[in-house]
Amino acid sequence: MQIKRAKTQGFCFGVAITVKKAEEAVASGATVTTLGHVVHNPQMVEQLERQGLRNADSVDEVQSGTLFVRAHGLPVSVFQTAEAKGLEILDATCPMVTKIHVQAEKLRAEGYKIIVIGDPNHAEVKGTLSHVPGAWCIQTQEDVDALPRASRVGVVVQSTWSGTGFAEIVKRLTAKYYEVRAVNTICTDTHNRQFEAAELAKDVEVMVVVGGKHSANTKHLAELATANGARTYHIEGPGELERQWFDGVSVAGLMSGASTPGWLVDSVAERMEALSRRAS
Ligand code: SF4
Repeated sequence: MQIKRAKTQGFCFGVAITVKKAEEAVASGATVTTLGHVVHNPQMVEQLERQGLRNADSVDEVQSGTLFVRAHGLPVSVFQTAEAKGLEILDATCPMVTKIHVQAEKLRAEGYKIIVIGDPNHAEVKGTLSHVPGAWCIQTQEDVDALPRASRVGVVVQSTWSGTGFAEIVKRLTAKYYEVRAVNTICTDTHNRQFEAAELAKDVEVMVVVGGKHSANTKHLAELATANGARTYHIEGPGELERQWFDGVSVAGLMSGASTPGWLVDSVAERMEALSRRAS
């Protein structure tokens, strides 16, 4: 069986920077706490916890030391609470996420009613919404129909959103509002992976997508691969691979989400090769 691997694999640059900063912080001997896992990847989370990184659900649980801000960023109010408590803040928000905050604030300052396309329960979107209080958050074309009237709307989008989904919603907004100013804030890494998922899926019979089950960008990749004709499996590691997936398969694809380390993708490739030799 031939295994075709996507060109863009392993950590995106934002996650790579975040992980490096977290490792350096714990190695310095500081007490470092993150709110939510640094990456959507169980193996990497375990590794960082072994190195000493702590995890809390809320800033209220952090009494001292350093508050580590992961790539998704945090709401403004959490920064304010951390400062008021005298915590050190190590801000590893991805620059592409900061750019979304800046774009949204700029549009608001120019008088646009802000619309954030994204999952309101996702940490990144919560952070973005905190920069533009009163913004509307939508996820589907149908959500557009339920929005109140406005004359000028300014739009930003979650960094890992689907490009097609963004384009469809903007089209619907354009039909509803007099002026729509949309900034495509889907990050370059996400864009590249989505493009490769769609292209690669057309060339393979089976696609394996490696990434955390809660990772929004990995889920989108698996959906795209399915939509483009490949029988697709979303897994977190090599242990989930099953031999029968590759029975009679001559070309399989392999790609990963933005928070999947390169070594994990390599180990999945090795296991796929081993299983395909055993497949009938
Ligand atoms: S997926 Fe994009 S926005 Fe998110 S951390 Fe990676 S580079 Fe940054």
